[in-house]
Amino acid sequence: MSLNIFVHMLLSISALAVSIVAKPVRVESYVNTDEGLDMVSSVVIGSEAAMIIDLPITIGKAKELATWIKAITDRPLVAAFTSHNHPDHYLSGASLFDEFPGIQYYANSRAAKEIQGEAAMKVEYWSGIYGADNVVQNTTMPMAYDFGFFALPGDEDSPVYLLNPLTGDTIDETLFWIPAIGTLIAADSVWGRDLHLWMADLLTRALTESWLATVEFISDLKPLTIVPGHTVSNASFDGSQDFNHTYAYLKFWQEQIESRGPDYFTPTEIFDKLSFEFPGLLTSNSRTILNRLNITAENFGRGGKRQVHYQPLATFNDSTVLEGWLW
Ligand SMILES: [Zn+2]
Repeated sequence: MSLNIFVHMLLSISALAVSIVAKPVRVESYVNTDEGLDMVSSVVIGSEAAMIIDLPITIGKAKELATWIKAITDRPLVAAFTSHNHPDHYLSGASLFDEFPGIQYYANSRAAKEIQGEAAMKVEYWSGIYGADNVVQNTTMPMAYDFGFFALPGDEDSPVYLLNPLTGDTIDETLFWIPAIGTLIAADSVWGRDLHLWMADLLTRALTESWLATVEFISDLKPLTIVPGHTVSNASFDGSQDFNHTYAYLKFWQEQIESRGPDYFTPTEIFDKLSFEFPGLLTSNSRTILNRLNITAENFGRGGKRQVHYQPLATFNDSTVLEGWLW
């Protein structure tokens, strides 16, 4: 055997060994509790780099998150994605980016446009709640990203698929699906079993139907792990408990409340129905869960205080458009 062939064989064997031991990406999640509105940020960590999905609402929470990220990985954070246009998923992202120079920031083009259109109003509103010194005043806008997937450098065999535009607790959400590890980062299409859902954007029956269609689609993907958009604890995202809670909540909403027509119940009746059907949630560790349930009751109850929307959500009344992905 010539030396060249021998060396070539050795290299082939070592390449094989590398391909056998190569690990797919992994996902670590962080719950932004209290003023973070229980929003879940997730980091996808690859062999050479990492990226983050969803950014907290306040500067204080962004700093906490940055500290946590640096503790769990030394890979450079190359990209950030925001899953949808709600401010608890992007508002103080710029504060996080200060800690990770060179990061690129994205959202799907519809969500990016929606964020562009309403960020200034959200800054003003949330500065009033948390203080102007705890909210980034000049929001960094995401760049439009409409590829159907991305791959971290060195992990092209473990792509992350971007499923969008799908309806969750609002329109035009992106869900992040990683088949190599059976993990779905569901954004606000799935809520933790310990919370009342954000319902105030569901101004039409078609929007509720469309959210349910997304949830049913998730079931068909058969994920091993579902990371919800909000929860109180990240003790376990394995299995289907959060998924089942979300499905049951939406079905109850659709069949017992929405089906009666607008203004059928008073805010108190809606509050009581949801807290009776999903008992124990108001005693959870969430500081904002009561507020969330009150907003739902007021927004849909007779004579209640309506949530301000900057998008014409009441015009989204065509399921065939919202579920255009379902052939
Ligand atoms: Zn959210």
